[in-house]
Amino acid sequence: MISMKKNVSLVAGGAGFIGSHLCRALLEQGHDVICLDNLQTAREVNVEMLEGHRAFSFIRADIVDPLPDAVTRRRDITRIYNLACAASPPQYQADPEHTMLTSVVGTDRLLRLAEQNGARFLLTSTSEVYGDPEAHPQREDYRGWVNCTGPRACYDEGKRAAEAIAFDFARLGRADVRVARIFNTYGPNMHPDDGRVISNFVCQALSGKDITIYGDGSQTRSFCYVSDMVDGLMRLMESDVADLQPINLGNPEEYSMMEVLELVRAQTGTRSRVIRKPLPIDDPRRRRPDIKRARTLLDWEPRVSLAEGLAITCAFFEKELFSQMPDYAF
Ligand code: UDP
Repeated sequence: MISMKKNVSLVAGGAGFIGSHLCRALLEQGHDVICLDNLQTAREVNVEMLEGHRAFSFIRADIVDPLPDAVTRRRDITRIYNLACAASPPQYQADPEHTMLTSVVGTDRLLRLAEQNGARFLLTSTSEVYGDPEAHPQREDYRGWVNCTGPRACYDEGKRAAEAIAFDFARLGRADVRVARIFNTYGPNMHPDDGRVISNFVCQALSGKDITIYGDGSQTRSFCYVSDMVDGLMRLMESDVADLQPINLGNPEEYSMMEVLELVRAQTGTRSRVIRKPLPIDDPRRRRPDIKRARTLLDWEPRVSLAEGLAITCAFFEKELFSQMPDYAF
């Protein structure tokens, strides 16, 4: 008789923006899913719909602390996705020490759990490891231009250290490791007060508040819709690419913030005023992924255009802002 081992996936940061979509997609593929989240920047409402599912369990825990018994007692976990970390600049800068420890201590704890279970481990790293890049677009072998003493360092350097530990575990044969470098991602389940550009612009536009452009708006980013990102993460996890190299995941279409503003205006028909605010310290001037590795090794590329994705995101925020009337501050 062939024994089919059930896939049990642990998703750290599973109640967050990308994590909640990943949990849903894994359940749809028949995985058992353990969602671990400290609810620091995530919301349990993101996974409320999943909580009735018999294969889903939610555990509130912070990966900086020793992992809960309900997790460490297990020996049947087959996949560990680490998405746990505040990712928006104002949020990860609010408690920089905790941000750094989440990436370093938290990743180490999850890698040990992977080792104990013989599970495959995927770290979500970030395009922030490239800093304010001189190379454009950014390939995985570009080593970055990062300020290790600035206000973004808690996130950038934390993720760089997390990559280093993950690849060391792999080199030592302690865990089977994958590392994705995620570029800017957006879509439903982002928090209205997240502070990132898409949620800010859309929520400001929908509620008639002033739209905040930082700097002159000429800086660029490349925005990936969340379903494309989740597809990329799952492909990477299930691929046999274990060459000790990270893989960029992101949408290579690049927009200036002024162009994003125009798309949001067109989508919402807003009459909001536009105001200028200072450019944050160390804000990268431009960012665009080279996704050749993901295309070739994972047969992956994004399918959803920014205009299409924005339409869905605007509908989500409209419901979010006007059906519950919470007191958001964006
Ligand atoms: N930004 C902006 N207005 C906002 C929020 C952000 O102009 O209300 C700019 C920000 O300075 C940056 C870009 O949008 O150049 C993307 O910022 P975000 O915080 O979304 O992501 P990250 O800087 O981490 O890529």
